[in-house]
Amino acid sequence: MTLYTPPRYYERTMLDIYTLGEEILAEKAKPVKTFDSTLALLVDAMFETMEEADGVGLAGPQVGVSERLFVIDVRDGNRWVFINPEIIATSEECATAEEGCLSIPGIFSDVTRAARVTVQAQDVKGRPFTVEAEGLFARAIQHELDHLNGVLFIDRLDKEERGRAVRAFNRRNRKRRTRA
Ligand code: ZN
Repeated sequence: MTLYTPPRYYERTMLDIYTLGEEILAEKAKPVKTFDSTLALLVDAMFETMEEADGVGLAGPQVGVSERLFVIDVRDGNRWVFINPEIIATSEECATAEEGCLSIPGIFSDVTRAARVTVQAQDVKGRPFTVEAEGLFARAIQHELDHLNGVLFIDRLDKEERGRAVRAFNRRNRKRRTRA
């Protein structure tokens, strides 16, 4: 695996979350090719980091790994790992709901997405699976898959709304920096 951070990083289970403005969030991530213990440790650390940050999904690029994987836990008792995911079917029906992102803390906006998706992916051992998702699970999958293509949820807003979100994020961050 190509890592942006040295492997010893995984001795800590908490990973740093990259935020808006970091280049890696705008890059297209590369396929995962090696299903080894490093990948398994990364996935475990991603779940811990996501849960600690109170998120429902976290993608590789958000923790500095520009590879095609994400984890999801929408608090329905299932922990999902998607590696090299592809959406193979989407419903015509759409749904609109508020979204946030661990990489854009404090910013929330309504986003319209497909109501249902069917996804093909591999698990942490490389075994292929297919899942049909709806509701928050379908939304989280689409949000995380966007991350693998360098797209953030604010990129799906109209220009004016996106500008407002970026300004609000920058304002919030500036405040935080001067307080620190
Ligand atoms: Zn996100």
